[in-house]
This record gives sequence, structure tokens and C-alpha cells, in this order.
Amino acid sequence: MPDEPVEKLGLRTLEDISALILHSHDLQETLDNIVNLVAKRMASDVCSIYLLEEDGETLRLHATRGLSRLSVGITMKTSEGLTGLAVESRGVVATDNAPLHPRYKYFRQTKEEKVLSFLGVPFFERKNPIGVIVVQNREARTFTPAEISAVSTIAWQISSIVSNAKLLDSIRKKEEERAYYAAEVERLTKGGVLKSPGTPKRASSHQAVLTGIGIAPGFAAGKVSILNRGLREEPVLERARPRAEEHKRLLIALEKARIQTIYLEKRVGEMLSEADAAIFHSHLMILEDRGFTGKITTLIDEGLGAERAVSEVVGHYIAAFSQMEDPYLRERSADMEDIGRRLVDALSGNHRSQEKLKENRVIIARELLPSDLATMDPGKVIGIATEKGNLNAHAAIMARALGIPTVFGVDGLLKLVGVRSEVIVDGTSGCVYLNPDQSVKLEYQRLQGEFDLKQRALEGIRELPAVTPDGCRIMLYANIGLISDLRVAHLNGAEGVGLYRTEFPFMTRNAFPDRYEQASVYRKVLEGFPGQPVTIRTLDIGGDKGLSYFPHPKEDNPFLGWRSIRVSLEREDIFREQLAGVLLASPHGRCNLMFPLVSGVDEVRAIKRILEEVKEELTREGKPFDREIGLGIMVELPAAVLVAEMLAKEVDYFSIGTNDLIQYTLACDRNNQRVKKWYDPYHPAVLHSIKKVADAAAGAGKPATLCGEMAGEPINAILLMGLGIRSFSLSAPCIPQVKEAIRHIALARARRIADRVLGMESALAIRSYLEVAQRELGL
Ligand code: PEP
Ligand code: MG
Repeated sequence: MPDEPVEKLGLRTLEDISALILHSHDLQETLDNIVNLVAKRMASDVCSIYLLEEDGETLRLHATRGLSRLSVGITMKTSEGLTGLAVESRGVVATDNAPLHPRYKYFRQTKEEKVLSFLGVPFFERKNPIGVIVVQNREARTFTPAEISAVSTIAWQISSIVSNAKLLDSIRKKEEERAYYAAEVERLTKGGVLKSPGTPKRASSHQAVLTGIGIAPGFAAGKVSILNRGLREEPVLERARPRAEEHKRLLIALEKARIQTIYLEKRVGEMLSEADAAIFHSHLMILEDRGFTGKITTLIDEGLGAERAVSEVVGHYIAAFSQMEDPYLRERSADMEDIGRRLVDALSGNHRSQEKLKENRVIIARELLPSDLATMDPGKVIGIATEKGNLNAHAAIMARALGIPTVFGVDGLLKLVGVRSEVIVDGTSGCVYLNPDQSVKLEYQRLQGEFDLKQRALEGIRELPAVTPDGCRIMLYANIGLISDLRVAHLNGAEGVGLYRTEFPFMTRNAFPDRYEQASVYRKVLEGFPGQPVTIRTLDIGGDKGLSYFPHPKEDNPFLGWRSIRVSLEREDIFREQLAGVLLASPHGRCNLMFPLVSGVDEVRAIKRILEEVKEELTREGKPFDREIGLGIMVELPAAVLVAEMLAKEVDYFSIGTNDLIQYTLACDRNNQRVKKWYDPYHPAVLHSIKKVADAAAGAGKPATLCGEMAGEPINAILLMGLGIRSFSLSAPCIPQVKEAIRHIALARARRIADRVLGMESALAIRSYLEVAQRELGL
């Protein structure tokens, strides 16, 4: 091994691999470069990458450093050898004496008889293994956990490039299938005039109420600014210049688009977070992809102008992405369009960014892309309405983070809105009013007035503590998911972060971030609340939350399946990397660790054992971290409620996750509209469970926070306070209204309400009783 510390080695290697990916032009070149780099950095005699063939049982050697060059291309079954074992067991295989291992198999072509130690780490695409990276040494070498962790992280990166390459490849194949027809169409249109689609007739005085999806709450009323139509609707040049000139123009445009993309990545990283900016990294990869650029070049060779060649190729990609079953991949068609438009703009000297945007405009667009928001001056935009897009689009996440009232998914918007139109965007209800008449305008002015008044009144209590009139101090923390939520949390007077859902930064990426990348995100959250507690929850994936790059088995009952802490405890490599990330960030604030979906004491002990090992590893490496970091669990399973007294002895605090506790107590899927009426926070079983957990925590002298959505309703917060809860973690915009209620209602009164409710047998009766209480309390 080289004498530099292992984690530094891992980090440097990962950084270099990122650079390799960025500068390689095809999969083979990238894999060759990776095996060379890893073999060198790990001082291993052999490093090889095997990919699984489509039959799911044949592994083919794709790249190697150290084995005979002739062996590239050899195949083996997953049922044979240690490499096959890594795929079959879906886990790491490590040994310092491979020939003694019962699964060892000798492959003549590889000349590997001289090799003693073996480390094989499989990598996955979504649900399935797709390959293995193998590191081997001639001498007996025991691979340390840190080395295994470094290779595992490299394996994640490989999986993302292999799946990207496969995706591009399958798109290419589909294109080839259509080639015959495309060629026919080409022949027919060649030399003809490509018609601009023409401007749809718009009646600037037409009145209408349109509905879409409310993306970011609030109202905006004013004049519109219509962004250019989409890429495919841009008029394009009719006649191509000489071929050499078109090729040169394309090269320059690609370079310009690359520079612009790097700039966008930087700017979004600064404005929002690195996680939000990660998407531009994939844009860069596509701009560098040989298949993508080669296709454009071919069309230019066939006589098309560069703009039109770009539009055609991008159009094919968009069509292919739009047909994908997976919603995440479908949404990537928007990214493809974004890239295409940046290229066409670079070719035509056009700037789509809103340089000429006037003050106080509502942006109207067919679709808003991440780069539109990144280049927009948010100070000039009062609202946004688009035809396409949904809640999970990157642009939606960004609009929410910027706090601009936004509605997406408004059918027929562009046909109806004209340059002289006026609109009202209601991001709360998802309505867009077109050329509203005087009565609608007045109504919205009234609503806006009320909204402002309420905001101002609530702003007045932002700095005040949440204390009941009889002196009970309640702590109000924020639930956050993205770095950009920190701003909203502060605006609403949060006293810390009670729940940081770490799966969200993982979701906006293409591969697992390593411990250092994670530490830098967690550090930002901690530094966002200096001196105040920040509770970082470990990955809660599974159920309805998936990561595009992480394999997940198909399950009949995902919410009863392999999710959350169960994944962490079985994929210790990922878990350890995350724990290390949190610990590395911990000196930068008041950090607590929290574990989701815990069912009992055995899991807590397993968590503690792993945490101790990670702490020891960091200690050995001389890394500072908070040795007293708080360790808490989410109570969201009926099992945890029943053994709450036992659990209270094991942990520093509880956080009751009612979103899941209700679903598991009442056996009622939290996302299923069909069974919505059974998902009832007022069911006596739910309320008695909360009481039991609060009592168990109090009995052990440990705090119990509640972080489910139900606490966002002021009357619920009062009831929960009466049941013994003394701190809440809420969606930040709910904090002011809950604080106002707490400051007006005595704990004694809340206790009386809770006692009454605990004596009731029916959810219906509890609901009616609380409705009356709410009116009486003026909530
Ligand atoms: C909960 O289950 O109440 C909770 C806060 O966690 P999540 O909503 O992230 O599952
Ligand atoms: Mg939960």
C-alpha cells in the first residue's frame, strides 16, 4: 500500500474517477482507465471489472489491469468462482487466501494462480446486480474495512456510468430500428422548407380559470413574460452552410454549452446546494458522450445544418426518454431538452436567459427547466405557471426553494395566454386565472391582504419563544430535506432541525455520495443552525422512496419490506459511510443522530455496535468528531411503542413519527387514497400509543419529540402537548401558527383536553370534540 492514509486515498481516487468519467468518451475507455487507476492507488497486482450479461448468469471480463490482456472477453457463470459468488450473494467477498476458499475456481486464461488475496464488490442497477469490481494481490493481504468501503464507493460510481452507458446504448438501438423510416422522412424533407409551427392564436382578453398542480404556495398577480417555445418548436435554419463550416460551428457550440453547463453547476451549487446542482453534472456527461455528438455529426455529414441536426438528435432522445416506464427516467427528457436548447442557443447566438425580463413578471412557459431557474433573476419573477412538469421535477424543487408561487401542469396554458395577458397564479390551490375580471382581482387582493397581515402578525412572534401562558416551554424545530429548506426554516423561526431527511440529498444524485461529500452537506445544515440542535436521520429509503442508482428488490408490500434501517443494517457499507459522514460533520454544530423504523432493542444494539466501530475507525485516523453525539430513534412502529420502556433505556431520545405510526398501527397505506378514511390520527389506538411513548420517555428522563405531519395543525399540537409532548419538529411554514396557539393556551387546559380525549372510544367522537374545542379556543 502507498503510505498515505486510506481514506485520503479513497477520496483522491474517487475524485480522479469523477474526472475520468467526465473526460472519457465511451464505456470501454472509462472502465480501462478505472482499473488502471484503482490498481495503482490500491497497490494491487490485479484490478478487473466484470459485467453481467443480459441472461443474468454470465459474467464477462470487460477491463483488467494485471490479468492477461487476452483474457478480456472471457466469460464465467455466476455459479462459479469468487467473482460469481459476489453476484450471487449480492455482497462483498474478501479473502486473503483465495485458493483455500470453497468457491475458488481457477481460470486458466487469466494466469491468476499467482494471486492469493481477493476482494470482489458487486455493483447494481436499481434492483439487479450488473457487475463486479475485483481487486487481487499476489501476497496474502487482509483488506481493511476502510479499503472495502473505498472499493464499494468506487463500485457505486461504476454502476452509475455503466447504467448511463446502457441507457444511451438502448436509445441508440431504438434509433437504429427507426432508422429506415427516419431516412425516408429525411429524403422527403431534404431541400424542403422546414416550417415554423406558427404562433397559436391567442386572445389577450380571453378570460379563463385553469387548474394545475400547486408546486410552491402563495399568490402572484401581474403581467406575463412568455419564455420561448420548446426546442422542437424553434424555427430552424432552412439551408445548411458548407459541411466543414457546420462541423466547426458545432464544435464551438459544444464547447460553449459545456462552459455554460459548468457555470450553471457552480451557480446552482452556490444558490441552492451541491445536491441541487448535481443534475448539471449529468448534462456534462451527455454533452461529452460520443454517441450523442457522433449522431449530430453524422446528420451534418448528411447535409443538415447544425441547429437542425441538434434538434433532430435531441428530439429522438426526448422521445425515447418520454417512453420510459420509470418516472425518474421519463423526467430526464426535460434535461435532454435543456441540453439541446443550450446547444441551439449557442449555435444561433441566442440567449434564452431572461436578460430582458422586466420587473414583476409571471413567467409562462411550456416547461421550465433547471437552467431557466438558475439563470433567472428571482427578484424579478413574482410567479410561475407552466404546461408541463410535476412535483418531483428538479425545477419544482428549485421553485419551492426560491419561494416563488408556482403552478405546473396547466393544460392549454400557452394557447390561451398572450403577451398582453394578465394572470393570477395561486400556488396554494394550483389555479391560474387568465385576464381575471375586477371581482376576481378584488377577491385576490383581499386574500393577499389577509395573507400579508397574517404573515406580518406571525413575523412579530418569530423571535418569541413558544411558551404557554402557564410557563411551559415547547421547542419548535423544522423538518428539512434540502439545504435550501434552511432559509424557510429560519424565516419561520425554527429553533433547530428536528428531522433532516437525508434521503433527499441522495435522491438528487446519480450515485451514492461518499462520506466526505456527505459530511460537507451535513456540515452546511449544522452551520445553518449554529448552537442549535440538528437531528440527522440516516437513510430512510424503500417503501415509496427509491434511489435510481440503488438496487431494490421488487416487493409485494414495500412498506412492510426491505426499507429504512433494515437496508442500513444489511448494507453496512452504505450505513458506515453515512455514519462516518455525519460524525465527520459533527464538530460543526450540535449534532444528533437518529435512526428510522426501529422495531426493538436488538436493532438499537446492532446500530450502536456499528457506530462504535466507525467511531474507532475515525479515532485511529485522528479525525475529530463529537464523541457525545446524541443517539435517538424514531418511534413509528407499534412494536416500538410496546417496548418503549425498554428502548428508552438504550437511547438518548425518541422522535415519534406519526406519519408511519398511523399507517402501521391502523394497517393503512399512507399513500393510498382508497383507504384514506382509515388513516386517522384520532383513532384511540394512535393517541394511546403516543401517550405511552411520551410516558416511557418521561419515566426514563429522556425527551420525546414528535415529527409527523399531524402536529402542523394547531389543535393537534395542543392535544399532543396535553399528552406529554414537549417538542415538535414540523414542516417549517406550520411553525408560526403552532407557536401562536401554544402562546395562547395553558398547559393545564391542554391536559384537560387530552384527558377527555383519552377517555373516548371513537375516533369520530374525538374529531367532533376537537372541532368544538378548536372553535372555543379561537384556533
Ligand atoms: C414519520 O413517519 O412520521 C416521519 C416523520 O418520517 P417520514 O415521513 O419521512 O416517513
Ligand atoms: Mg417515517
